[in-house]
Amino acid sequence: MTEATRILVLNAGSSSVKYQLIDMVDGSRPAVGLVERIGERGGRLLHTPAGGERRESVRAFPDHWAALQAVAQELAADGLGLDSPELAAIGHRVVHGGMRFTAPTRITDEVLTEIRRLVPVAPLHNPANIIGIEVARALRPDLPQIAVFDTAFHTTIPEHAARYAIDTAVADEHRVRRYGFHGTSHQYVARATARLLGRAPEEVNVIVLHLGNGASASAVAGGVCVETSMGLTPLEGLVMGTRSGDIDPGVIFHLHRVGGLSIDEIDDLLNRRSGLLGLCGDNDMREIIRRTEAGDQAAELAFRAYVHRLRKYLGGYYAVLGHLDAVAFTAGVGENAAPVRAAATAGLEELGIAVDPELNSVRSGEPRLISPAYSRVAVAVVPTDEELEIAQQAYALVRTS
Ligand code: AMP
Repeated sequence: MTEATRILVLNAGSSSVKYQLIDMVDGSRPAVGLVERIGERGGRLLHTPAGGERRESVRAFPDHWAALQAVAQELAADGLGLDSPELAAIGHRVVHGGMRFTAPTRITDEVLTEIRRLVPVAPLHNPANIIGIEVARALRPDLPQIAVFDTAFHTTIPEHAARYAIDTAVADEHRVRRYGFHGTSHQYVARATARLLGRAPEEVNVIVLHLGNGASASAVAGGVCVETSMGLTPLEGLVMGTRSGDIDPGVIFHLHRVGGLSIDEIDDLLNRRSGLLGLCGDNDMREIIRRTEAGDQAAELAFRAYVHRLRKYLGGYYAVLGHLDAVAFTAGVGENAAPVRAAATAGLEELGIAVDPELNSVRSGEPRLISPAYSRVAVAVVPTDEELEIAQQAYALVRTS
């Protein structure tokens, strides 16, 4: 009998579905792809089978049902259909698991109901994740479907760090607390950093800087997350591509009462028109670095504000941990933008943090150290792989249950 050793990882967003089929025996990816602009004009499916040509299909995908059916057809065309006996489970990225879901969870009707109950705290994300689950269950009702939550890794954050200093009754009624996001990435990178150092995850304290279009920091003590920068929503913390990160809540009252902006307008401003984009008109770090080097002052201010916030978190989390073994940069900016890594760590030799300019300028897709041997704290670039982490967690669950 064929052994079921493959996991299909689905990441359903509001207008897109990304997918990867991962073989857990050799780590290969027999197929990867995405569907974009679901429910919009100009939909597109990109599908790449291992060792084959990328196929592009430009057409309308009216909803997630149509998109996921098309994905199933593409996979079937390569002999990798959802009915394949090699498929062990479907692993779903679910953004918000609240306090209930602290680990990967096999999806039942009851679990789905709980994920739906969390929609009010994750209105932008959980609805799309839920549709992805519903369609996948309809297509393969007998197959284990596993939810892997972005928030799960952060459920170990101690209460004094997770609580906002507001009236407890109000906070409890509305489930207001720090949940944190990008947890799958933080978990993967913290573990991969320990591996890079040749040590067990339980032995090392790491600050993970996940710097993508969305960005977050976490402090991980011996493999356990003790603090993270995103909060009730993914708006808090670092300066991001289009999100403000930390802001005085008084700004919101001011913009509403004095500026006359509605709550929805302020929501849009802080989530989609702020951060790097708000400061200089660009949210792509490549462009900001290029403009800064060309002497553009707005781009330089955006770069400096981004780095300043990063350094505040780096210093803060160092103090939270007390002892620090490594700082790990990951995601689009963290993996690629050497100037950001250099500026974020400059002048921190007294804290035991140093970066070697030559190592920092090396371009590579591999986990690597960029600190010199004398640096007491290792500084690393560790490419994240959320899909692999989801697949590993889902596979571990189906193998043991
Ligand atoms: P992610 O959300 O992890 O896919 O990261 C996307 C972001 O990474 C983009 O918006 C860019 O700002 C940034 N990025 C990607 N490649 C580079 C690069 N070579 N240099 C600087 N920033 C980059």
